[in-house]
Amino acid sequence: MTDSILIVGGGIAGLHAAIECANAGARAIVVERGPVIGGRLAATMTAADAIGDRAEGARTPLFEALTANDRIEIITQATVTGIEGRPGNFTVGVRERARFVTDACTRCKLCRAVCPVVLANEYDAGLTFRKAIYTPMGETYPEPYVIDIENCLNTPPNYLPCNRCVQACEDDAIHFDVPLETVHEKHVGAVVLAPGFQVEDGARYRELGYGSHPDILTSAELQRLLESPGPTGGYASKPSNEEYPDSVLIVLDEPSHFALYIVASQVRQLLEQDIETVAVLVLSPLSDPESYREVQELAARSGVQVRWGASFRVEANPENEFDVSYEDLSSRQFAQEKYGMVVLCTDVEPPSGLEALASALEVELDDHGYIRVSGANGAGVATSRPGIYVAGCASGPRNIRESIEGAQSAASAALAELDPRQLGADAPATDVRPQATAASASPDEMRARIEQLLYALIGQPNG
Ligand SMILES: Cc1cc2nc3c(=O)[nH]c(=O)nc-3n(C[C@H](O)[C@H](O)[C@H](O)COP(=O)(O)OP(=O)(O)OC[C@H]3O[C@@H](n4cnc5c(N)ncnc54)[C@H](O)[C@@H]3O)c2cc1C
Ligand code: SF4
Ligand code: SF4
Repeated sequence: MTDSILIVGGGIAGLHAAIECANAGARAIVVERGPVIGGRLAATMTAADAIGDRAEGARTPLFEALTANDRIEIITQATVTGIEGRPGNFTVGVRERARFVTDACTRCKLCRAVCPVVLANEYDAGLTFRKAIYTPMGETYPEPYVIDIENCLNTPPNYLPCNRCVQACEDDAIHFDVPLETVHEKHVGAVVLAPGFQVEDGARYRELGYGSHPDILTSAELQRLLESPGPTGGYASKPSNEEYPDSVLIVLDEPSHFALYIVASQVRQLLEQDIETVAVLVLSPLSDPESYREVQELAARSGVQVRWGASFRVEANPENEFDVSYEDLSSRQFAQEKYGMVVLCTDVEPPSGLEALASALEVELDDHGYIRVSGANGAGVATSRPGIYVAGCASGPRNIRESIEGAQSAASAALAELDPRQLGADAPATDVRPQATAASASPDEMRARIEQLLYALIGQPNG
C-alpha cells in the first residue's frame, strides 16, 4: 500500500489538491510540465497576500506554504508517460526533462544578457521577451533559471556551438553534460488530473484586426496588463506608447457563460482604473435567448454599454486611436465610434497535449476535448477510469473559486482510495482554503475577524 497521490498540473487546482492531500497526511507528488509552478496564475501567486479572485475574494496558496511542506514533492519540466495497476495501487511513469541550470543559480541575470536567442515570453501573454536561458518572471518556484533547449543553439550532448551563457555564469550553474531526461516510477494510490486549459491565440481574430496594431489586444493580453506583476505594473496602458486609454471596446464573438464571466471581470477592473468609457460589442445574432439574457445581466450588473452588432471594422487613425464601425443589430443603424484600445475576447480550449495525456492514462475526453467527468452537467470529479480524478479547468472552463472547490473535491475522492492507516498522523495543517477577504466578508465575519485581531493584541478576555 502507498500513502501517495500523484497530481498532474501545478496550476491553482493542482496545488490546492496537493495541499489538501498533504494536510490529510498523504504525500502529494505534483508533476508540472512547465519550468515553474503556478499555471495561468503563476505570476500573481507570489504576491505577499496571494492573489485574490478578483470577483469573489478567494485566496490562492502561497508558494511558501507549498514548498515548505515536506509531504509535497514538485517535479517540474515533467510529463506522465503511462499508468499501470488499480485504485490504491498504481505505478505511474514520469519523464522529467533536464533544466541544465542547477540550484547554484543566483538569478543574477548575467546569462540573460549574453544569450542571442530572443523569444516571446508566454508567461507575459507574449507581451514581453525572454531569452533561451530564462526565468519566466520575477519570483518563481523552483528558483533557478532554465534553458529552453528546443530554442537554444546547442543540441546536447553532441553539438554545442554556443557557450556564451556558460562563460558569463560566475556561479558555475549551467551544465550541458547532464542526462537529457530522467525517468521516474511513482507508486501512488490515486491520480488527480489538473492540466488546466489554454487561451486560443489571436490567429482567429486577424479578420477583426488582431496583429494589425499593438493596441488591439486579446483578452489574455489585457489580463496580463491588469495583473500587478505584469509588464505595466497592473495598468491597462496602451502597448504602443504606454499612454492610458480614455475608452476601451471589448469585442465578443461567442458569448459563452465563461467568456461573459471574463468580460464582466475585465470590465470591472477597467472601470476601477477610471477609464471613462468601457463598451462591449457582441458580434453574434440576437437569436439565442440564453446568451441574450446573460449579456443583459452583464450590462445591468456592470453598468457597461452592451450592443449587438455585425460587419465589425476597426482602423487606426492619426490620433493613435481606433475608428470602429459596425451595424447595430437592435437599431439596424450603421454605427461609427472611437476607442483608445480594442480588446478581442478570445475563447479558452483544452490544453495542448491533453489527448496524449488522456491516452497515456486511459481516460476519456468529452466532445469538446476536455476530460470527461461523471455527475450532472460534468460537475463531478470522477473520470472514466476508477482511481483517476479531475480538478480545475481540465474538464471545462471555471473561475478560480470553482477550480479550488473542484480541487478539494478531487483530493477528497483521491484520499478515499488510500488506506487511512497509511496516512501520517503528524500532517502539518496549512490552511490555504478560500477565505473571505475584506471585500467579500459579511459584517458578522468582519466583526469576528476584528475581535480576533484585538484579542491577539490585548489577550483573550479571562485568558
Ligand atoms: C483571460 C482570462 C482571465 C481570467 N480572469 C479570471 C478572474 O478574473 N477571476 C477568476 O476567478 N478566474 C479568472 N480566470 C480563470 C482562471 O485563470 C482559472 O480558473 C484558473 O487558472 C484554473 O486553474 P487550473 O489549475 O485549472 O489551470 P491552469 O492555471 O491552466 O494550470 C494548469 C497547469 O497544468 C500544467 N499542465 C498542462 N498540461 C500538462 C501535462 N500534460 N502534464 C503536466 N502538467 C501540465 C500547465 O503547465 C499549468 O501549469 C481567467 C482566465 C482567463 C483565460
Ligand atoms: S544561470 Fe548563472 S548567470 Fe544565469 S542567472 Fe543563474 S547564476 Fe546568473
Ligand atoms: S547556449 Fe547560447 S543559445 Fe543556449 S541558452 Fe546559452 S547563450 Fe543561449
